[in-house]
Amino acid sequence: MAQPTSFDILSLPVELQCLSISFLDPATLVSLSQADTYFRRLIQPGRHEIVQRLLQLECTEEHGGGLTDPLNPPSWIRLASKSMRGRWACTGCLRLLPHASFDNHSLLRLGYRKPVAGSSAADPITDWGAPRKRWGRRFHQPKESEQPLQDGDAERWGSKRHLRKCNECRFQNRELGKANSRERGTPAVPIQPSRGLAFASSRDRFFPGLAEHVGLGPLSDIVAGSSRSQQFWPTRMIRCPGCTQWQEMRSFRLGTKNSRWVPIYADGEPDFCAWNWDDTKLTRSVMDELRCNSCFVDEHGVDALARVLSGWAKKLMRSEVSSAEFALFSGWEAVRSNLKHIPPDYQPQFEEILRKHEPSIPGPINAKTLPVYKSAHDELRSAWDYMAAKEEGSFSSFDGHGFDQWLHHYHVYEARWELMTKLHAVVVRQPEVLAAWALS
Ligand SMILES: [Zn+2]
Ligand SMILES: [Zn+2]
Repeated sequence: MAQPTSFDILSLPVELQCLSISFLDPATLVSLSQADTYFRRLIQPGRHEIVQRLLQLECTEEHGGGLTDPLNPPSWIRLASKSMRGRWACTGCLRLLPHASFDNHSLLRLGYRKPVAGSSAADPITDWGAPRKRWGRRFHQPKESEQPLQDGDAERWGSKRHLRKCNECRFQNRELGKANSRERGTPAVPIQPSRGLAFASSRDRFFPGLAEHVGLGPLSDIVAGSSRSQQFWPTRMIRCPGCTQWQEMRSFRLGTKNSRWVPIYADGEPDFCAWNWDDTKLTRSVMDELRCNSCFVDEHGVDALARVLSGWAKKLMRSEVSSAEFALFSGWEAVRSNLKHIPPDYQPQFEEILRKHEPSIPGPINAKTLPVYKSAHDELRSAWDYMAAKEEGSFSSFDGHGFDQWLHHYHVYEARWELMTKLHAVVVRQPEVLAAWALS
């Protein structure tokens, strides 16, 4: 008697084989077509099937998954950690690529967003063998059991993903750098906006990771701890005509300490245009001659790159060192200008402390004076804490912005000043380190 065998799709008539295949998801369909010659001939996967497969794969958890909260559109800050490993489908070059390969609109506009996790759009079946419908319809019918989207945009959500192209594909199609948008670069050197990110300072924005690179540890915690608020900076991807790689704007030594600065260039006179950090006027020819750090080194040598980067970093760091100095003494100024809000019984004591330390504060900061300032701070803090314990908030009109932070986390301000000063010294004395950082 014959042993029962496992189900073999090949034992079915071809019509039933096709019917079974039409229930597969796009990724399985393409895998099956690669199983052997018979299925390759039967399925004959074309560009349409490959695109469907990519649009399915970009929704898998492995590639960053779909959205979990459709009613709160994503911001790049919220997606920051996710988008580091996330991939999106380019239906031009048929690849899954990181966010930096696309402009923001190609990822965040409603029609281009990844669909909601768990929806039928994120978990589709193939339309293989069916009369070819308009793109998107089949992908975007919500399941019956799904909660309808409150904003009424369910139909459009992700419905244009099959049109999404990466920056390079759009460049090759001559869609980028058109002259009618002078902040998007030139046809030879196009600029595409990318996600915005929070940075503690302009130095952090244009030289991220430099402190760690020279062995000074992460500055970010210390900077954040001294109550400096993080600022939101747009980032921009630029295509280097030398190596044809897309890289962030900082790799082209482009930008100023103003986070709203836009690299808009003059295309003839008298056009309004931007000026770079080194007072270079952005003209069409300056833009066309932009090269990434690596290509700059090929042309001018590594010493030249070190010189330019050192000049830029020094410019950005000077104000950061000054602000670290200012912050170190900020609490003293707060006490001085708010003396009248201190309970009268305690005013003479604080007047005395101020009188005692006034000659040296603010003063030069160095290894000798730092301990002096520290002991003055200790004296002020003890007196303040004693008063606060006795008065229990009856002096709440004291208007010292960040004063409490300064009073009780003074070591953070000291550490910030020390690190900024050391980093500044490295930038001045060892410019070669900057070139090594930029090329690493
Ligand atoms: Zn592409
Ligand atoms: Zn290059």
